[in-house]
Amino acid sequence: MNQQEKMHDIIGVGVGPFNLSLAALLDEIDEVDSLFFEQNDKFDWHPGMLIEGTKMQVPFIADLVTMADPTNKYSFLNYISKNERMYQFYFLQRLDIPRREYNDYCQWAAHQLPSCQFSHRVIDVQHIKDNEEYFNVAVLNLKTDETNVFKTRNLIMGTGSVPVMPKSFKGLPDEDVFHTADFLSYQDGCRNAKSVTVVGSGQSAAETFRELLKEQRDCGFRLDWITRSPGFASMEESKLSLEHFSPDYVNYFYQLPQEKKDEIFATQGLYYKGISNHTINDIYNLLYEYSVGQEELDAGLQVLSEVKDIQPKADGSGYELTCFHWQKKEEFKHESDKVIVATGYKPYVPDFVHQLEDFIEWDEEGRYKVEEDYRLKKKQPASNEIYVHSGISHTHGVGSTNLGLSVHRNKVIINHLLGREVYPLPKKSIFQSFTV
Ligand SMILES: Cc1cc2nc3c(=O)[nH]c(=O)nc-3n(C[C@H](O)[C@H](O)[C@H](O)COP(=O)(O)OP(=O)(O)OC[C@H]3O[C@@H](n4cnc5c(N)ncnc54)[C@H](O)[C@@H]3O)c2cc1C
Repeated sequence: MNQQEKMHDIIGVGVGPFNLSLAALLDEIDEVDSLFFEQNDKFDWHPGMLIEGTKMQVPFIADLVTMADPTNKYSFLNYISKNERMYQFYFLQRLDIPRREYNDYCQWAAHQLPSCQFSHRVIDVQHIKDNEEYFNVAVLNLKTDETNVFKTRNLIMGTGSVPVMPKSFKGLPDEDVFHTADFLSYQDGCRNAKSVTVVGSGQSAAETFRELLKEQRDCGFRLDWITRSPGFASMEESKLSLEHFSPDYVNYFYQLPQEKKDEIFATQGLYYKGISNHTINDIYNLLYEYSVGQEELDAGLQVLSEVKDIQPKADGSGYELTCFHWQKKEEFKHESDKVIVATGYKPYVPDFVHQLEDFIEWDEEGRYKVEEDYRLKKKQPASNEIYVHSGISHTHGVGSTNLGLSVHRNKVIINHLLGREVYPLPKKSIFQSFTV
């Protein structure tokens, strides 16, 4: 282990869109010495779900910098301009850019940011009290296998989320039973299968089903979609509902008592978990087209049914799914060669954060406590802060993973880090009021 002597102002763990936005904004601020470590060898935003035709669920204005400073060189429009696509983008007349383009834009920005170091995994963090207080951050270089220890006054956690797979679906061959997060890696295998089943009914499930439905007739596989939900519910996308993803709602939500927050958050699933209307329309239109002149479609959509277990068939020809219709209380079996599991993501809090238990305050549910300005609550006063982007739904609510709030959050963090108002914050940014 090599101890580096230089003291940084802030070190970022993970380079997803949230920390990349912070890196881009800090690039303009000379007085802050920042470093960001990402374990992947390049910026890549949910690569398994960069399906052609999928688009961002926020307008391109929610890029890395525009909401703080539209003149910043890392803006999406500057990316378009530098790539000489201004007229094509102008004639496209869309706010909701392709997901693949958002990824390409972020890669373009990341390439220009010397503070972002890829193929580096943060493996440990210790709070040190010498003459000076600071964090020691142990970072494994995945290319050289060397570990360096960096000193920093502050940390920012941007470790995002990881796919969730029910225990009973695990231990089967990855290429046959896999999470939507790996869809593009295993899509080819689906083309050669006799039957494919998608389990779950969020946006990722719908996008995967739509993509498979487009190919199904050419490839000849049977396609099924099973969900335990009572229906394929649409996401709440009206303009006034979208105002829940605003600084005003975050501020209102933050002030509520924790029990109230937990109660409210549990009722807000359709703000972020449902399926976009346009995706449901695409699927319905395809099903309608395919049904013309057909007695029966080679596709099934089954609601109210939980997949409890997946087992390989005795003759080795695919898998048997044990399903349970929870309203009729009836078990049934379903067979499929491939099963694509769309059971969502959970926030990723690395173990080394849990090991800072003497430094950080935790609630009764084992979640860290977070100050309004995104600093973890400390047990004792210290001159160092750990800011967080991830795992804050319980404190900051439904917009915690929404990209439309990323720049706002980074403005709050930068103002605190520098101890002055670098970016003025809006007093009221939406039409409705959440508080009196
Ligand atoms: C398929 C999909 C589409 C989405 N589309 C939208 C959308 O259109 N609009 C919207 O508002 N939201 C969307 N979201 C939600 C949200 O914006 C994304 O999940 C977003 O990627 C979150 O960004 P992040 O920076 O917090 O984390 P992530 O993008 O998850 O990035 C975290 C990074 O941290 C790295 N990391 C973790 N631990 C370490 C470590 N110890 N050392 C080094 N690196 C580490 C990981 O490798 C990863 O690259 C989508 C989510 C998914 C899954």
